[in-house]
Amino acid sequence: LGSLGSLGKSRAKFISAEETTGVTFDDFAGQEYIKRELQEIVRILKNEEEFQNKGIYCPKGVLLHGPPGTGKTLLAKAIAGEAGVPFFAASGTDFVEMFVGVAAARVKDLFSSARSFAPSIIFIDEIDAIGSKRGGPDLGGVLVIGATNRLDILDPALLRKGRFDKIIRVGLPSKDGRLAILRVHARNKFFRSEEEKEILLQEIAELTVDFTGAELQNILNEAGILTARKDLDYIGREELLEALKRQKGTFETGQEDSREVPEELKLRLAYREAAVAVLACYYPDPHHPFTETNINSIQSEPNMRYAETSGREFAKKSDYVNSIVRACAPRVIEEEMFGIDNLCWISAKATSKASRLAEYLILQTGMTAFGKAYYRHQGDLVPNLAAKLEALRDEYMRFAVEKCSSVLREYYSAVEAITDILLEKGEIKAEEIWNIYKKAPLIPQRPVSP
Ligand code: ADP
Repeated sequence: LGSLGSLGKSRAKFISAEETTGVTFDDFAGQEYIKRELQEIVRILKNEEEFQNKGIYCPKGVLLHGPPGTGKTLLAKAIAGEAGVPFFAASGTDFVEMFVGVAAARVKDLFSSARSFAPSIIFIDEIDAIGSKRGGPDLGGVLVIGATNRLDILDPALLRKGRFDKIIRVGLPSKDGRLAILRVHARNKFFRSEEEKEILLQEIAELTVDFTGAELQNILNEAGILTARKDLDYIGREELLEALKRQKGTFETGQEDSREVPEELKLRLAYREAAVAVLACYYPDPHHPFTETNINSIQSEPNMRYAETSGREFAKKSDYVNSIVRACAPRVIEEEMFGIDNLCWISAKATSKASRLAEYLILQTGMTAFGKAYYRHQGDLVPNLAAKLEALRDEYMRFAVEKCSSVLREYYSAVEAITDILLEKGEIKAEEIWNIYKKAPLIPQRPVSP
């Protein structure tokens, strides 16, 4: 085990330390561009000295964000494995659930351990639990990889302060991505033949829109267990479909939405979904069409479902602005219908999502007055820019809220009609939404100025 083994033991309470993770980029499938993006970091970690001599400094931080089970931890381990450097892991929640002093000591401990093994990697899962005020110790040779499922609740200062050189979204895999992931996890499983395996995996990839890598892995494991239970030698179609059904069961009921929806929430949910639907018609996205929505589950995000993204080539500034307007819909309709003092949590996320999109547009795309090139000055915001950024973001938000409410007023009859159907049937399909939207008598609005 070497020296790291004993270190791992002494700190084992909160740090897990691995001298080498043994994970490589081959273990992560789909979203190939992410690996390409991270390859450069691996090269720098590997030849630290050589790069330092050339004046290229190692990136200080990488932030991976996206839904749980999409392989963020796996990627962090793969970076360590590819670079052959030690891997320290902790969770953001480890640092906050205790007396402040103890937590601070833990952070210090973790960083000093990692530093003594530099170049090394510290992986902090649920980094959103840590505020931005947490001190930034000198990191020489330590790469911090943070992961979060909740970019929306991440302290924006963490992003602005230049702690992360790379912010990478790890999204749900596409159909090809799912196939590639299934192939990885089928490597150690028995199938009748390579041809049959390929056909079966393709079928499963078709049937698993919105599944994460972790869920796909579960399907193959479950199919393996079913096969063994039946005393069969090879995984067959029947076992795979059975495993898929089971995974879908947990997929559909394992979330926060399995509760019975109380009557008083139904009306709010119906309005929310209707507003989201009308905005989705107003700003149609041909690459990511919506398919249906319902009021059968309570979630803080809209229930609207979408078909797989296809053929998206590039996003224009207006696409970003439109998505900010769309994101405001749950909040705008709830305020409109129930009053500002009666807002509830089902629209709470909308505001943070919209302002996060606005910040992204301003800080990351270079498409606004303060493009990417201007906002950093030796890793920090240039003086006074924080205030300007906030003012600009507020301007976008004000515009988005106004635009959103004017669309909802204009199409108020459609909002009501969709709400009625949702209350009556519990769900509504895209086709019916479009019919209502196209035939809705418009209520004229004064134009809003951008
Ligand atoms: P996250 O950190 O994003 O919650 P994990 O990295 O813990 O997700 O994923 C759990 C497991 O799911 C991984 O160990 C891996 O076996 C599988 N997995 C997830 N995404 C992928 C992927 N893109 N390719 C291969 N396996 C994956």
